[in-house]
Formats: sequence, C-alpha cells, structure tokens
Amino acid sequence: MSESLYALMESRIPGDRSRVLLETGDGGSYSYAQAETAAIRMARALADRGVAKGDRVAVQVDKSPEALFLYLACLRAGFVFLPMNTAYRPDEVDYLVGNAEPSVIVCRPADVAIMEGIAAKHDGPLVLTLDTDGTGTLAEAAEEAPADFPMVECAADDLAAMLYTSGTTGKPKGAMLTHGNLAANGLDLVESWRFTADDVLLHALPIFHAHGLFVACHCVLLAGASMIWLPGFDRAEVLRHLPRATAFMGVPTFYVRLLAGEDFNREACAAMRLFTAGSAPLLAETHEAFSARTGHAILERYGMTETGMLTGNPYDGERRPGSVGFPFPQVEVRVADEQDQPVVTDAIGDIQVRGPNVMKGYWRLPEKTAEDFTADGWFRTGDVGRIDERGYLFIVGRAKDLVITGGYNVYPKEVESVIDDLPGVVESAVIGVRHPDFGEGVLAVVVPAAEDAPDEAAIMAHCKEHLANYKTPKRVFFVEELPRNTMGKVQKAQLREQHADLFKG
Ligand code: ATP
Ligand code: MG
Repeated sequence: MSESLYALMESRIPGDRSRVLLETGDGGSYSYAQAETAAIRMARALADRGVAKGDRVAVQVDKSPEALFLYLACLRAGFVFLPMNTAYRPDEVDYLVGNAEPSVIVCRPADVAIMEGIAAKHDGPLVLTLDTDGTGTLAEAAEEAPADFPMVECAADDLAAMLYTSGTTGKPKGAMLTHGNLAANGLDLVESWRFTADDVLLHALPIFHAHGLFVACHCVLLAGASMIWLPGFDRAEVLRHLPRATAFMGVPTFYVRLLAGEDFNREACAAMRLFTAGSAPLLAETHEAFSARTGHAILERYGMTETGMLTGNPYDGERRPGSVGFPFPQVEVRVADEQDQPVVTDAIGDIQVRGPNVMKGYWRLPEKTAEDFTADGWFRTGDVGRIDERGYLFIVGRAKDLVITGGYNVYPKEVESVIDDLPGVVESAVIGVRHPDFGEGVLAVVVPAAEDAPDEAAIMAHCKEHLANYKTPKRVFFVEELPRNTMGKVQKAQLREQHADLFKG
C-alpha cells in the first residue's frame, strides 16, 4: 500500500467527493473531485514532459486554486514539491535552482525570460508557466492531458516536499520532508484542533511556506473540510468572508491589522471556533486586545520548516499569552543544556525535538544536518526556551540572537519585553553588535508611537529600573518600522549589518 500523503488524504475522505474543497473570493468553487481531476491532468502533463518520481518541481507562482492542484499533483505522482517565496528576486531563485536542481520550474508568465535565463545556467530544467486565472503553459498542457495518471506508490521515507527555511539566521536551507513527516504532523493537527468535514478555513496565508501550505491545507485535506482561498491577506476581503468561516490561521501581523478597525468584532466572527497564530511571536497585548474585542483567545503555536508543527496552546484549557503551549501528540520536546541534557523546570536552554514529523535532513548539507541532530536523535531547533511547572513552553529567543556582552548572556526578548511595556513604544528589536571592550554591545531599535513617545534617555532609564545594567541597551535608535520578511519575522541580521560599526573603537 502506498504510504503517500495523498493516499492518506484519499483514505480519510471516503464517499462523496462532490463536496467543496475550495471557494475563491470571487465566487469560484471546486469540489474534491474537480481538484483531483486537475491534479491528475497536471501530473500527466508533467510526466509526459519527463518529470519522474523524486524529481524536484520548483514553483514560484501567485496563489490560485491551480497552485494548490499542482501541489496535489506532486503528492499524487511522487514529485517533490519545492515552493519558492514569491518575493524572491532572480538572484535568490538562481541560488535555489542551483542548489535544488529541479527538473522543472513553474513560474508566473511575466517571469519566463528570467527563469529561462536561470534554467540555462543550471542544466536546463524545463520552464512552464501558471497564471492565477488558470492559464499558462502548464494549465494548457494539463487541459490536453488525459485524466488517467495512476497514483504513484510512495514509501513513508520518500520525499514529498522540499521547503527552504526563511533565511532569518543565514542562507535558506532546503528541508527534506517526507510523506511520513507530513502525514504524521497533519494527523496531529487534525486531532489537536478538532478539524471535521464541517469546517471552513479562511485561508489568507501564502503557500510557499510551511504555515500556509502544510499546517493550513493539511488540516482541511485530512478532514474533508473546505477552504475560502484568498490570494493573500487583504483586511477588507478577510472581513467579508469571515462570517462564513469556522477557522482562521495567521501570522501575528494579520491580527494586528484586523484589530486596527472597530469593524472587526464579535459579530464578524460569529461562526468562528478557532484562531491560531504562529511563525513569529504574538505580543501579549495583541492576544489581550483580541480577546477583549472578539471573546476568542488566539491559540498560539510553534513550528518550523524542518519539523512542521511542534507545540500549541490547548484547544480546551488555558491559552497562555507569551507561551506556545504543549507538544503535539506525536512530538517530544525538551529544553537541554550545552551537553544535551534536559534542564530543570523553568531553566533556560536549547529547545530540542524528536518525532515522526522531523525532517530527513538538510538537502546537500550533510555536515549541517549532522550538527543539528544530537547523538540520541533530537533535532536542535536553534530556539532557546523554558518549560514551566505546568508544562507550558516559552520561547525566549533564537540561539543565534543571544548577545554575549562582557561575558554575560543577554536574551534580546527579555529586554524587548521591558521596552515594549513603556507607554509610547509600539515595538522594539534588541540586537548585539561588535564592541571593542565587551565583545558585543546591546542596542535597541524602537518603533515609537505617534504621540508621547519616550526619548533615548527615558528608555534607558526605564531599562535600568527593570533590568541588570549589562542588559540595558547602550544606544537606542528610532525607526518607523522594523524590517520584516513576508512571514512577519523581524530581520535582525539586517539591523545588525546597519549598525555593525556603531561601537567600533
Ligand atoms: P532560518 O532557519 O533560515 O534562519 P527561520 O527559522 O525563520 O529561518 P522558519 O522555519 O520559517 O525559518 O521559521 C521557524 C522559526 O520561527 C522557529 O524556529 C522560531 O524561531 C520562529 N517561530 C515560529 N513560531 C513562533 C512563535 N509562535 N513564537 C516565536 N517564534 C516562533
Ligand atoms: Mg530556522
């Protein structure tokens, strides 16, 4: 029996496949059966052009129903789906294509010339186009292809997808995810978040990232539920469709934007049962403002490209602001010291995880892969955290963000929380940059509110009152907004680069 994720999805949705899988914002509707036919035709069209099981299919397209059908086609045919961030510039695509060696690139019609140039440099993968209106060479080829491509046998250990990490801490790395990884995590999600065929997920996330592609789609596809499929986050569009939805998944920025107007309120979420947030930390004040406005507590969860979803606040039970909750059913989580030994309750250490969800390794980076797994098979997430006496996990920051100043460890998040508490501060990012005396010096980059913003001296005085001296920033800079990538992650590397010479003696 095939152990492909596709076979699992099919086995979980027996019977009536005429039920709706996708509705688009402009009234389009696609049943499970239609999606399957489209996927079969696409798989046939790709196979006829020489794409075989195990080949990478690199995809940089805007979000459309066809983009999802292409993902299903790959799962069904054993091709390895490799989505690329739509914001990637040609140099970044060039890096990924050179690294992943796909046999085909599927792109937007406007990018053909660029992609053909890139393809010519790297063993000439085929370039096909796909447009949001369901046209393009792949759509045409699929339309002509017969709907008779068999489901390809896959073992649990075969690759289903390759996703590059967000590149927050360095160059993006290709995480090799197997059918078994995705299936295990998908089932955990459906169970933990109680997805059923009655659910309607309002899907506004991008699908080149694990959050929108795996977490959001797999909950639906493994439960026989349906989705309202929006091309992206547009506040007005989300509000227009929200009353019909039962679930919504967002990055924290989505929630900040929703809260920006009074029209987001209890009535707007009348049918909702679940709001989740992840990919970046959700501020406690967003969590609280959301509860006050809607009567719903956002369920914050934690995951990463390499592992899928790891922990989440409970479906039933207290959802604690600032915490990412408990491990999912098949996931083990521990906080460990430098010798990879678990630390005591509330002590800070490296977050390590183990389970059937954890990737096979980094593509063509055997040394990095070996480094990131402990001798006893735990994956080092690169995040630093603590587990409290009730078992709630708190993320303290990233190991790479740790600032070591004069021999002392400073966790930026602790300092950021103190600064963010000050009235007149919207948010802040704390980083370390080279310092002639201390190794690294702490500095804060602050987004001030429009009114009554504190000045540098006031922020430093506030920090001195609440933090040890070595944690207090030596300088404070003000900016209109923090640099963020498409997933809402603050680009600290960019800030470090901007201020690299600040303390140079
Ligand atoms: P790279 O690995 O290339 O540096 P990245 O780690 O940002 O980039 P992703 O896999 O997209 O790439 O993101 C996973 C990371 O996002 C986690 O390791 C964690 O640092 C952060 N993250 C995810 N969810 C949360 C959350 N709820 N709170 C805080 N951080 C989170
Ligand atoms: Mg990472």
